[in-house]
Amino acid sequence: MLFTRLVARLIDRAIAMGYQATLGEVLRGKAQAQANAASGAGISNSLHLDGLAVDLNLYLNGRWLQNSEDHADLGRWWKAQHPDCRWGGDFKDSKGRPKPDGNHYSITFQGRA
Ligand SMILES: [Zn+2]
Repeated sequence: MLFTRLVARLIDRAIAMGYQATLGEVLRGKAQAQANAASGAGISNSLHLDGLAVDLNLYLNGRWLQNSEDHADLGRWWKAQHPDCRWGGDFKDSKGRPKPDGNHYSITFQGRA
């Protein structure tokens, strides 16, 4: 599957860029997606429901990089891999205001990001 192949490359790329990485959430259940939507932490139709998104945690010199901007270089690289690749750092809320989720890397499916 394309997403899985691209995630393998994403991890390799992060390491080549000098980061250490751990894997966060990939597959999310519907109840969790609904809870995230209710709290504003996520959306109810997340691509995590289909295993088409990964939350990749980056570390540099042992420090966890928690800001979305810390993922900007890797996010740009991800988006260049395939026209359907989406990076959470570009996310906006329902009113079009930036709502970045920098460690989220996904591939669009049925119009969802
Ligand atoms: Zn995510």
